[in-house]
Amino acid sequence: MDNNRDTAADPLPQTGLPATEVPGTGLLGTEPSETDLPVTEAAQLLPVAELHLHIEGTLQPELIFELAERNGITLPYSGLEELRGLYEFSDLQSFLNLYYANMAVLQTEQDFADMTSAYLARAAAAGVRHAEIMMDPQAHLSRGVSLETCVNGVVSALATSQEDFGISTLLIAAFLRDLSEESALEVLDGLLAMNAPIAAIGLDSAEVGNPPAKFERLFAKAREAGLRLTAHAGEEGPPSYIIDALDILGVERIDHGIRCMEDPELVERLVADRIPLTVCPLSNVRLRAVDTLADHPLPAMLAAGLNVSVNSDDPAYFGGYVDDNFSQLKAVFDLSDFDRARLAANSIHSSFASEERKAELLDELNAG
Ligand SMILES: [Zn+2]
Repeated sequence: MDNNRDTAADPLPQTGLPATEVPGTGLLGTEPSETDLPVTEAAQLLPVAELHLHIEGTLQPELIFELAERNGITLPYSGLEELRGLYEFSDLQSFLNLYYANMAVLQTEQDFADMTSAYLARAAAAGVRHAEIMMDPQAHLSRGVSLETCVNGVVSALATSQEDFGISTLLIAAFLRDLSEESALEVLDGLLAMNAPIAAIGLDSAEVGNPPAKFERLFAKAREAGLRLTAHAGEEGPPSYIIDALDILGVERIDHGIRCMEDPELVERLVADRIPLTVCPLSNVRLRAVDTLADHPLPAMLAAGLNVSVNSDDPAYFGGYVDDNFSQLKAVFDLSDFDRARLAANSIHSSFASEERKAELLDELNAG
């Protein structure tokens, strides 16, 4: 597990700097030229960092039924088929309703560990070599599951992720923005008191009506504690939420951020400051942020020079893991090998991993 607090306190090295060659990799920082990147076969998986992933969103229907049986929980679905049929969403809220309902099966540390291991095994097959995993402690506390149970369960699987799956990992405590800041502060205090191995905090759940400013004290406190900062912004919410997440919360990274494209001045700023945007194309289609994948702004974001990466968000619910996102993007947009490698390099540079780990991954990417 890679959650060194000393490393976590350092600013992102790429932010605000011109592209520079990464020592020993032959790869340029975040704006490589075409000749600097390896040419790969279309079907070949690139080593990537997954930066936007909610561990609760990796609960596959099969595992939901398995855990329900283990814990003696009666699910309100007749079987797998009925549950699968519910994965058609009209918007973010309709997804969140099912997402929270299914969490009822997570009761013990072992449940959290099994869910996490299942994700890591699937992520390894998708080419993920570093994962920054968000967990929603408040969603479990509200069900009577303790902080220790959910944190220790996930951490027990992350502790051996490198040996078991070849994936370095770190944990991000995400806070539900539709709850109060007081609730978030209380949970952050609890995490710090138990010395939970978290590297960063994030902000997720229902965005519209819950602007970043609501959590100013939470982010200030996390920053003082040496934690890295990220927040969902500009998924369903307006571009101003992205600006406020940067200016009021001081985040280093924006999760989603696709609506920045409505504000040319903001795009200019994000490009100039190399702010990472952790984009989740299949999620955006499923939650109707865009009508179809063909309407997704990712190619335009790349063309604008934005620091975008491809992530799976809640892969069990949104039709795919990182490799599925890449293969569908390639099918729809005919993404070039250069663009795929650029997206992979962006994900590595934008991670909160140590400089040593980033250099290792870039070496792996460069080796093609
Ligand atoms: Zn998300």
